[in-house]
Amino acid sequence: MEKILSGKPLAKLIQSKIKFLIAQEGIQPKMLLIQVGEDPASSYYVQNIINIGNKLGCEVLYNQYPANFTPEDLLTVLDYANTDPSINGIMLQKPLPPSFDELKIAESINPQKDIDCLHPINLGHIILEKDGLVPCTPLAVIYILRYYKIEVEGKHIVIIGRSSIVGKPLANMFLWKKPYANATVTVCHSRTKNLKDITCSADILIAALGKPSFVKEEMIKPESVLIDVGINQITDKDGNQIYVGDIDYNSCFDKVNAITPVPGGIGSVTTSLLFLNLLKACFTARHINKSIDDFLNYILFE
Ligand code: NAD
Repeated sequence: MEKILSGKPLAKLIQSKIKFLIAQEGIQPKMLLIQVGEDPASSYYVQNIINIGNKLGCEVLYNQYPANFTPEDLLTVLDYANTDPSINGIMLQKPLPPSFDELKIAESINPQKDIDCLHPINLGHIILEKDGLVPCTPLAVIYILRYYKIEVEGKHIVIIGRSSIVGKPLANMFLWKKPYANATVTVCHSRTKNLKDITCSADILIAALGKPSFVKEEMIKPESVLIDVGINQITDKDGNQIYVGDIDYNSCFDKVNAITPVPGGIGSVTTSLLFLNLLKACFTARHINKSIDDFLNYILFE
């Protein structure tokens, strides 16, 4: 088993397969990318999405609206995008201004174009193990474990974090009756008691809590696998802005069998999978049915 589970070769592989499928079908999937305001971290992600989209042969229509854009204005834009047949996927860059009701906005996205998987219908399908659009970050965790041939079935997986976009959907995906799932899952959160006792029992520990270097060596089981979803910007001792994960990489490294780096781990796979969701939505609109498993098998094993 590789010790450092880099996301970079996997991202490259996913992108090359998406590019091939797009060329083979002679299509140009189109994404509407919406940003409200000018959050600098968001703008960085937005640029990354546009660059990858261009590279893959997709069209990314980027609409940036001023911070004084109202929720009603956004609903009008979504109304239009939901029914415009030329738009295959809608991506709403977070954060939205605090006055926006995120659930109401999520419910206003056409579920078939909901490539970031915010709509309750798509999240519900995950619990029911029904094929559909799934959130990219949990999917990136599944892909990285599969890519590096890390057995999940029957393992005790502990997830720290219960957000609707990472922890909760991921926990449910690991419960699927699939070869890359079938795990026993524990979800921890800010009110969990005796966190260390639970994390020390994890065969695979997934940190998705948004606290820099939170998981320390004494919180992990020897020879376990650590997956770090966190991306936190901090100032290092020389005053430079750097990114670190939710796991204290250096203190944990020697004790474990494998660990994802930050940057260059889960985050580098996530954006590529956003385009896989776009492709899936585009195929579905054309009545070409390809399941999550069809794509996974094609990308990783064909
Ligand atoms: P969130 O803030 O919505 O949720 C954090 C969760 O962590 C909450 O459920 C909370 O209960 C839990 N938590 C907080 N403090 C805790 C503590 N001390 N002990 C136990 N649990 C605690 O965050 P999110 O949107 O799920 O993101 C989590 C992290 O993942 C962030 O660092 C974010 O930047 C990163 N992220 C990365 C990607 C990617 O592609 N790699 C995508 C999304 C989010």
